[in-house]
Amino acid sequence: MIPMVEGEKRGAVGRASKDPYSELEKYPEPTVCPRCGLVYRAGRWQVAKEPPTGRARESHCPACRREIDRMPAGLLGLSGDYLAKHRDEILNIARNQAASVAATRPLQRILWIEEKGGSIEIATTNPHLALRIGRAIRSACKGELTVKQAERDSLVRAYWERES
Ligand SMILES: [Zn+2]
Repeated sequence: MIPMVEGEKRGAVGRASKDPYSELEKYPEPTVCPRCGLVYRAGRWQVAKEPPTGRARESHCPACRREIDRMPAGLLGLSGDYLAKHRDEILNIARNQAASVAATRPLQRILWIEEKGGSIEIATTNPHLALRIGRAIRSACKGELTVKQAERDSLVRAYWERES
């Protein structure tokens, strides 16, 4: 590895393996996702107002790949006594945030909401959605939000907690 100088970014050239979930991956236009119906046009995956005419290539969109592989890009953990008392309200905030981004950012989806003991894990296909949900919960319910991203790891983990 060539040592990095401050201010430089390491490019994709020579990378050992490419990210199969990259939202920056280019596809021939139009390409249709056979699973969710998104269409790749004008350089991005978008909700199709009408299906493309003629022959379109088929390929799973990055969000469906993550859904099929159960491979999150964002994980938000929720815990604390407050959660137990306000569970439904907090889950509604999460679902409403996901619904409000769905139209404009269709690659940002909730993969799962899992309840384990007194805590809840929300997995998303894009780190921004996990952060958006965490911030919305903090803004509505106060509490602490901690965000962690390991170096060389595209997975973002966030934790929200409020006791009493
Ligand atoms: Zn799809």
